[in-house]
Amino acid sequence: MQKRRTKIVATLGPASSSPEVIEKLILAGMDVARLNFSHGTADDHRERAQTVRALAAQHKKCVAIMGDLQGPKIRIARFSNGQIELVAGQPFTLSNKHPLEDGNEKIVGIDYPTLIHDCKPGDELLLDDGRVVLEVNQVDDHAVHTTVTQGGPLSNNKGINRRGGGISAPSLTDKDKADIQTIAELELDYVAVSFPRQGSDIEEARHLLEAAGSKAWIIAKIERAEAVIDDNALDELIMASDGVMVARGDLGVEVGDARLAGIQKRIILHARTYNKLVITATQMMESMVSSPLPTRAEVSDVANAVLDYTDAVMLSAESASGRYPVEAVKAMARVCLGAEQEPGTTKSQHRLGETFTRCDETIALSAMYAANHFHGIKAIVSLTESGHTPLIMSRIRSGVPIYCYTSHPATERRVALFRGVYALPFDTRSMDREQVSASAVEALVESGQLNKGEWAIITRGDTNQDGGTNTLRVVCAE
Ligand code: PGA
Ligand code: MN
Repeated sequence: MQKRRTKIVATLGPASSSPEVIEKLILAGMDVARLNFSHGTADDHRERAQTVRALAAQHKKCVAIMGDLQGPKIRIARFSNGQIELVAGQPFTLSNKHPLEDGNEKIVGIDYPTLIHDCKPGDELLLDDGRVVLEVNQVDDHAVHTTVTQGGPLSNNKGINRRGGGISAPSLTDKDKADIQTIAELELDYVAVSFPRQGSDIEEARHLLEAAGSKAWIIAKIERAEAVIDDNALDELIMASDGVMVARGDLGVEVGDARLAGIQKRIILHARTYNKLVITATQMMESMVSSPLPTRAEVSDVANAVLDYTDAVMLSAESASGRYPVEAVKAMARVCLGAEQEPGTTKSQHRLGETFTRCDETIALSAMYAANHFHGIKAIVSLTESGHTPLIMSRIRSGVPIYCYTSHPATERRVALFRGVYALPFDTRSMDREQVSASAVEALVESGQLNKGEWAIITRGDTNQDGGTNTLRVVCAE
């Protein structure tokens, strides 16, 4: 049976924090668990991370964990009843003096003074990813006074954007800095940085993570109008990070939903060209918050991201707070597999005219060229320290699975996000160097991934060093 290549990121939240649900999510195909630091306490996230790790180990699955920083997202505070209903035409005030737990139909607190300085009469404010729209009438020292132009339900801690972007808040807040400590302590595999404007925002996050002792890879969320204003701005963010997220909720609000599909394709293409990871996120199966089946449009949205060759598709509210978290993961897995049947997804034109600068890159891309052109090859094995070689391999379209053999558990988890890459436990330390290739193929046959008479490609380094991959063998299983 064909293995699913596109990976699934599922956000954990109130609907998906019990061991029972987390176990079902893992068995349904969650490759990466996302902890959203916009909600919940450090203890909530610690408990979820421990549950994911324990259950993944129990089921012998490699599941990565991504901490998603809140960033300078301006959010409303909370309502005394948890939720209100806003009606078009009515006044509504956002205040940084109002008690944070005590919002109502007329006024709600915010704990972000920047909003007040960045707003002027006539601006449009979009709440909850644009579901509720307010027009600014007047701004004073402590509050923004508005009229509701698009009404609807509004619940605790929903985000606020300004149409057109341009909110001046710096990328990493004090809360983010504290959360980076938690992320380091929990040894999370990925950290997503929200609302970065330029490469230096990512550098700052990297310095803080390193100082805290974290080796997490950084995902830059592309969600500000400024980040996609031209290719230079986008490429700078891509190059500064290990991967990017097409964060369609905020991005769609800032650039307008009609531009989103084109921009999504551009972000995916650019990320892959620079050997970086890419996650497509937000509202992919939104109706599954309250329905056990996705709509045709949602299925088509997930399938299109797969055809664009995203590494992963992501669930937010669907898995965090919806009624059908497990069904949502199952539906995504099914749709990814279906879209991957399309022949174009395994054919590559990538970098055919290019020259390479590194030995490991040369081996990785040679392996993909061989795998895509010699039809006897049914598996690629990369013996790797950091996961860099399978990362470069998986930038190339192919139908051949890439197995990551590593003695580092952190690398096993990390590659859970890479399209078409699967970790298998393999410890070379007790092996004779000459034996390694034969044992690598044997392990594939034993685990049922390769049949006798089929071919595999094996890449490895003469020394066990990061970036040391310098050999490629083509071996037939006996
Ligand atoms: P969020 O990011 O869910 O943290 O807002 C994703 C997005 O904006 O789409
Ligand atoms: Mn966002």
